[in-house]
Amino acid sequence: MQDSTTTGVDIQQLCVYCGSSTGSNPAVSQAAVSLGRLLGERNIGLVYGGGAVGLMGRIANEVLAGGGSVTGIIPTSLFPPEVTHDGLTELIDVNSMHERKAAMMERADAFVALPGGFGTLEELVEALTWAQLGLLDKPVGLLNVDGYYDHLLAFFDRAVEDQLLRPSNRALIRTADTPETLIDSLLSTRVTAAPKWNELGQTETGGS
Ligand code: AMP
Repeated sequence: MQDSTTTGVDIQQLCVYCGSSTGSNPAVSQAAVSLGRLLGERNIGLVYGGGAVGLMGRIANEVLAGGGSVTGIIPTSLFPPEVTHDGLTELIDVNSMHERKAAMMERADAFVALPGGFGTLEELVEALTWAQLGLLDKPVGLLNVDGYYDHLLAFFDRAVEDQLLRPSNRALIRTADTPETLIDSLLSTRVTAAPKWNELGQTETGGS
């Protein structure tokens, strides 16, 4: 396990986790489109789950329409063929969901979760878990469109209050409500991964 590290961030590839459904809130689909457009403008490539559907499809199509590069990573055997996007810059077919998440973490320089369901939540929390273990030294952001993640953030605060989550690990999540603010925040992030286990039995105040 690595010690605390500090790195600057140069985001060439951004991994976006988001819903495979579009959802009912127009502000959310608009945020996916705006983030896709922003990636094109800033020449940042998109790495994502390779889907043609839902918010995943929206953001991929927007990046492609702006001439940007999109890498989809998907275990094609697990999904009906029509949900895999067939117009991406690069499509990587992996064997499992585990392999997909590992490949995303390796390829991307930073991670952002848009609104989504279980799949999105699982991917976001896995990235945070790797970060708190010191296995991932790349920034992780949450696009909190229209307060979608307010309850999740309140849960994380409660976990800190109850000393089940360290304040320094809670601080690993960068949050913003617009794509521009979030990307700027990630770009200026200096990631410090503090290992969860410093010394056996030693705890940080307010954390595990
Ligand atoms: P959810 O938030 O439950 O809609 O799940 C979205 C996440 O799970 C995405 O980031 C994908 O990595 C994965 N996923 C779920 N459904 C699909 C699909 N139809 N095609 C590709 N990836 C999917």
